[in-house]
Amino acid sequence: MTALVLDGAAMAREVFAELTARVAALARRGLTPGLATVMVGDNAASRIYLRNKMKACGEVGLHAELHEMPADAREGAVLEKVRSLNANPAIHGMIVQLPLPKGLDAQQILQSIAIGKDVDGFNWANLGALVDGHVSLAPCTPLGVIDMLDRARIAIEGRHAVVIGRSSIVGKPLALMLIARGATVTVCNSKTPDLARFTRSADILVAAAGRARLVTADMVRPGAVVIDVGINRLPDGKLAGDVDYAAVSEVAGAISPVPGGVGRMTVAMLVANTVSAAERSIGK
Ligand code: NAP
Repeated sequence: MTALVLDGAAMAREVFAELTARVAALARRGLTPGLATVMVGDNAASRIYLRNKMKACGEVGLHAELHEMPADAREGAVLEKVRSLNANPAIHGMIVQLPLPKGLDAQQILQSIAIGKDVDGFNWANLGALVDGHVSLAPCTPLGVIDMLDRARIAIEGRHAVVIGRSSIVGKPLALMLIARGATVTVCNSKTPDLARFTRSADILVAAAGRARLVTADMVRPGAVVIDVGINRLPDGKLAGDVDYAAVSEVAGAISPVPGGVGRMTVAMLVANTVSAAERSIGK
């Protein structure tokens, strides 16, 4: 069997086309959604993500601005920057690019972003809403995984979903979203004994561990849907997911590649969250 490829790039283009129409509707009411990114210090990987985000905003017609601060910026200065963007009516969404330099309290800074502008969905209020099955501004990567399944018309309800990883920005919020959609969910972590015992029972397997090629073909039930969230830099500089793509493609029913999979959908969901935040700002 050769798996159906879940093409995140093509799906992201679909999302952008839908968003362009919503942005045009807002423009008719005199509103341009604005996204501000605060970046403290410099980091090569962050710059690549940022470039992709800014490009996506431009394509859809959003206003995007970058606020760079030096690596030795004081926490008070970063908090003040967030406060001023919270108060800026031209900005509907804000992200603080992670990782932050050592010495800055990331949680303190993230939690200071206004709940309605928290387009990364990391504010505890937005994360907490997921417990109640309510998706307002939710983390972009889990949203991207769910949207990818929906666009591929892969049923979630009644299926067994296994999520490898329990981070607050990927594994846990994704598990909550899958539960809300009627899946039976198992969440694994680095202490899970005999990981393969769980993964082999998955109808939908999501790998979000940050371990290159952790998921091998023998860990996948024939015909299962495999979503690879992982982004790992190999010693030769190439990118690899958490799934052994070549081998697992021969077993799975559907699989998302890295790159060109969930990463593209993550950026698309960030833009979508910003458009939603702008719509809500005028009561839409
Ligand atoms: P994280 O905070 O490091 O969490 C990783 C999780 O995986 C932890 O819960 C860890 O368990 C678990 N884990 C690690 N090794 C494992 C193993 N051998 N077996 C089972 N579980 C294991 O990472 P994250 O922020 O969630 O990100 C996960 C991966 O997704 C990374 O590669 C990251 O780069 C990627 N990512 C991609 C996107 C995208 O847009 N595609 C977005 C965000 C993140 P413990 O809790 O027990 O330590």
